[in-house]
Amino acid sequence: MFIVLLGAPGAGKGTQAKRVSQRMGLPHVSSGDLFREHERRGTELGQEAQRYLSRGELVPDSVTSAMIRERLGQPDSRDGAVLDGFPRTEPQAQALAGLLAEVKGQVDHAVLIRVPEDRLVERLAGRRVCENQGHVYHVTFNPPRQPGLCDQDGSPLLQREDDQPETVRRRIRVYEEQTRPVVEFYRRLGLLREIEGDQGIDQVTEDILHALQLEVEG
Ligand code: AMP
Repeated sequence: MFIVLLGAPGAGKGTQAKRVSQRMGLPHVSSGDLFREHERRGTELGQEAQRYLSRGELVPDSVTSAMIRERLGQPDSRDGAVLDGFPRTEPQAQALAGLLAEVKGQVDHAVLIRVPEDRLVERLAGRRVCENQGHVYHVTFNPPRQPGLCDQDGSPLLQREDDQPETVRRRIRVYEEQTRPVVEFYRRLGLLREIEGDQGIDQVTEDILHALQLEVEG
């Protein structure tokens, strides 16, 4: 089963994708995490992507789709995945449909997590990410037990470069211009489920799982 999570930056896609992937036994495939991983390893792709990430702009479709094709070609994601951050443009949505069709697959569900814009800015400004493995916290809404340190691996919590206020505003604009059409793309296909994201983390997870279950039964 292939599930696409959609939503503005700060809507909670990453947090929810991890939980949904665990509950459903599917790998979590995050395009942002893959780019950051390339950046850390200093690959050519990472160096190219970094220029876009630091400005809050999208990495070109061809580069992004090729990276996802490679990831979905790995054995763990043959039968399904929870996709987080991809597709982000309509050409990427078409590329995804094409590459899943090659393995006789398809997107089964697209879940839009909706959060009002003023809440997004607040969430991104307080977001902290652990240095080692990218575990995500919020200074107020989801604080670590010990300030500044990851509960899971003890590494320092840092602020993402692209969570600075000016870059955040650019990312939200980019979402409205380039990713909104993806929401409409899946709506037209009858695959879109909309979830209220301005609730506690556990409740949002339950709502997503409930929506997926309804579709399975329906
Ligand atoms: P995220 O971790 O999902 O917030 O993504 C961080 C950044 O990675 C974005 O602001 C983009 O620069 C880049 N990125 C992630 N996913 C995509 C995508 N599907 N297409 C283009 N750029 C992306």
